[in-house]
Parts: sequence; structure tokens; C-alpha cells
Amino acid sequence: MSRILKTGENQITQKYSKSHEAVDLVKEKNQSDLITAHSAGKVIFVQTGYKNDRGSIGNASYGNCVKIEHEDGYATLYAHLSEVYVKKGEYVKRGQVIGRMGDTGNAYGVHLHFEVQKDNKRIDPTPYLNADLPNNEKIDCVYRVWDNVKRRWLPKVKNVEDYAGIYGEAIGGFQLVTYGGGKTKLRAHVKGGPWLAEVTDGGFGSKNSEYAGIKGRGIDAIMIWSEYGDATYRAHIKGGDWLPWVQGYDIHSYNGYAGILGKEIDAIECYIA
Ligand SMILES: [Zn+2]
Repeated sequence: MSRILKTGENQITQKYSKSHEAVDLVKEKNQSDLITAHSAGKVIFVQTGYKNDRGSIGNASYGNCVKIEHEDGYATLYAHLSEVYVKKGEYVKRGQVIGRMGDTGNAYGVHLHFEVQKDNKRIDPTPYLNADLPNNEKIDCVYRVWDNVKRRWLPKVKNVEDYAGIYGEAIGGFQLVTYGGGKTKLRAHVKGGPWLAEVTDGGFGSKNSEYAGIKGRGIDAIMIWSEYGDATYRAHIKGGDWLPWVQGYDIHSYNGYAGILGKEIDAIECYIA
């Protein structure tokens, strides 16, 4: 059984070492296999168009290659692929086929060069060949809110952990990312204003990272919709209580929001199942 090869076992032909911060896996000698995503995540790097090129260095040595970003700063990288089936920016599920084993780049024979990275540093992938990455087990979504009083993003929370927000301090925006694959759509309603245009999650911290809301303006209602599963969420009224949980929404309608128009929200909670 392998978590990365579709049908093969994990046969290691080159172990992790200081000079090879990865493991090399084969199915059987010079046989190819489909390669599957180790864990759910977002494809953040794709390289295609490479042929076998022994002696190449740097990124070129990877040949055709896919890198997937997971939760908590972890990433996995799959190199020397003959074919790549995913695009940069795409969300993939655990076990989803992402490419085919090959010998592109600096490779001697058909194999998969597999790396696990933590905060962009390569770590020993051996413990994770058939196991979850640390803390990457049951995370469906991660989200955070903009605090209008502190004028900053509050720390990210995971669905399984806690709510996002500080009671008494109205939020001016929120972001949410799912790690199960598929897109997530967010909407915010500004107190005394309109529903703002729908945004698609764009990750945290990047320049293109989108959020629902207007910093400095109080939000009084939110909507969350996910391709990955049913988004269940609720809002806490500033100076009040948690409102009932609501689930998803019709992307073309304005029904099924969490909040009370005219009353600012100071915290939200969400999970996706
Ligand atoms: Zn290797």
C-alpha cells in the first residue's frame, strides 16, 4: 500500500540523506504508476515540458513536477513526472491523481522523487510515506477575521478549534480557505449597506488574497459556500449571542445568511463536512 503511488508499494530506491533530502520510490523496475496527492491541499507550483536531462541542476533537475501546499506550513513535492494532470492554484483531495511517474529532469530510470517540506525546508519524508502530516488530519477549513478595533487580522483558526473574533470588537472582513478541494465562495453584508460582491478564497497573506468585507466597516451578515462540502457557520452578535447555525446558500440568491441586518458581528465560526 502506498499513499503516493496509485497501485504500487513504496519501494525505496534512494533514502533520505543530507545530500538527497527526499525519498525515491519505484513501482517495479522501469514501470510507471499514477501518482496521487499525499494529502489535501493547494497546488502552488507546477513545472511541465521537461524531458530526461541528466546532470541538470536546480528546479530543472526536478523535470515535470508538482508541489502541493498543506496546512501548517507543510508541502509535498513530486518530481520526474512524465505527465502532470493538475494546474497551479487548483485544490486537490488526498488520493487524487496528480500525474504519472516518469524520468524527466535529472533522473536515472523511472521513479518518483518525493519531498516533504516544512516552512520551505526539506524534512525527512520517511515517517509520512503512509501517515498523515502532523496536524493535517481533520482540517477542513481555516479562517480569520479583520478586527475593526485593533485594525488587524486576528490569528487564523481551524474549524475544529475555536471561533474567530473578539467579543465586543466588530469585524470588517473575513477570509476562509478549505483544504478538501474545490472552491469556496464568501459574501459579506455591510451594516447599513449592500451585500458585497462574492469573493473566492485566495489564500492567506498573498497579494491576491481576497476577503469578504470592507476593513473599518461593520459586517452584519455573512454567507459561506464550498464545493468541498456543506459549509455550516454561525455569527456572534456584538453585545449579544451566537445566532443559530446556517448551512450553505444558493449562490444565486440572498437566502440563508448568518447575521441580523443592522447588528454588527464580532465573531464567526465555521466547519465544512
Ligand atoms: Zn530523488
